[in-house]
Amino acid sequence: MPKEKLLEIAQKIKDCRRCDLYKGSTHAVPGEGNPQAAVMFIGEAPGFHEDSQGRPFVGNAGRYLDTLLLKVGLRREDVFITNVVKHRPPENRDPTPTEVAACSVWLEQQLVTIYPKIVVTLGRWSLARYAPKMKISDIHGKPFKAGGVVVLPMYHPAAALRSPQTGRWLEEDFLKNKNLLQNPDTADKITETSKEGQARLPDGQGSLF
Ligand code: URA
Repeated sequence: MPKEKLLEIAQKIKDCRRCDLYKGSTHAVPGEGNPQAAVMFIGEAPGFHEDSQGRPFVGNAGRYLDTLLLKVGLRREDVFITNVVKHRPPENRDPTPTEVAACSVWLEQQLVTIYPKIVVTLGRWSLARYAPKMKISDIHGKPFKAGGVVVLPMYHPAAALRSPQTGRWLEEDFLKNKNLLQNPDTADKITETSKEGQARLPDGQGSLF
């Protein structure tokens, strides 16, 4: 059952010593939401508030994400929200490629378990997992299919809080994709268009799921 499996993965994340990030963190942040969500949101890494509470997107960026979800008729409990990296990097620095690679096993397991129709990437770190050579400025708001899942690249809510223009783009991208997000089955109609996406499969793994 997805719920039990996700709890099992969450426990392994809490015990994870695959990189050193756990040493400076208070809580692991495995992710949360509907175990059978059709839409999964993937951010970058926990920040201060997420580290304190062990929950994803609970600071300013998280509150903003909640309002964006509401604009398209979704609630947090309808979707699953997680990050590329599950422990907070010190001082909120970017995760290193080694940390991302070490942590990717957990995201893979969550993807296999939830099996979403749509993955919304928030910011460049999660986009890089599917389309490492693409720039978010070129493809934000444009869904593409990569290895069996529809990827919807979005700007990170924290970036939108820093820049009003990015905020406008982010809100537009949510609204433009409202129908898709509310009817994830329509994702099946999106065909495999992104060579980038197809090219990017995690090292040593045959498929994105
Ligand atoms: N930013 C992220 O990328 N993830 C969080 O959980 C919070 C802020």
